[in-house]
Amino acid sequence: MSVKQHTLAPNTPFATPYYVISSIKPGPVFMIVSGIHGNEPASISAAQALARKFQHRELLLSRGKLIIVPLVNQRAYRRKSRGVPDLNRTFPHAASSRAGHPLSGALFALAKRHRPSWYLDLHEANGLSQHNPRRVGQTLMVSHGTRAAITAQRIVRTMNRSISVPSYRFNMKHRERAGTSRMAVQQLLGARAVTVETCWSLDFTVRVKYQQKIVRHFLKAAGMMD
Ligand SMILES: [Zn+2]
Repeated sequence: MSVKQHTLAPNTPFATPYYVISSIKPGPVFMIVSGIHGNEPASISAAQALARKFQHRELLLSRGKLIIVPLVNQRAYRRKSRGVPDLNRTFPHAASSRAGHPLSGALFALAKRHRPSWYLDLHEANGLSQHNPRRVGQTLMVSHGTRAAITAQRIVRTMNRSISVPSYRFNMKHRERAGTSRMAVQQLLGARAVTVETCWSLDFTVRVKYQQKIVRHFLKAAGMMD
């Protein structure tokens, strides 16, 4: 297994590190992205911790290639803001259209170059989906009828078996919104794509733990971790 650090959008104000973890055995390409919104610290921290664990060989990739971009929007993160414009509305809508921002353009180009068959976009949100079905905190978001939806449903069930506080349990949500990174990689690159949302009202460490657990369940489902 090798772990290499690279820079996304180098020599621009948006430069940010990403990691390519390669197993010696061939297998799927899996991409994890976090910090498209700057004010979602647990998802960013989880992605950074995962990259670190692979660097230190505390986690091993049994096959394939894993790409982690732990903090896409450095500027928004420094300002503790979602980001202006909302980067997650600027990804290409169609094969013929361009990204509406240099950073989403660079991220989509990275995905296009590696052609992931799996894609996780880690986020955080306000409100518990168990209390209010319109809220997206503690959800996995997918598009209806996709292969990703089948895996996500199974992972929601697995996660919920280990969560004793009922309001902390996850729900699956079907949502289509043009301009999100999930929709772009799903529609234009054919990836199985899922958005992960933890809820801001939970303890930070609990959210980080849930985010990491969910990622590991997906990596196992892809046959890339034992
Ligand atoms: Zn978000």
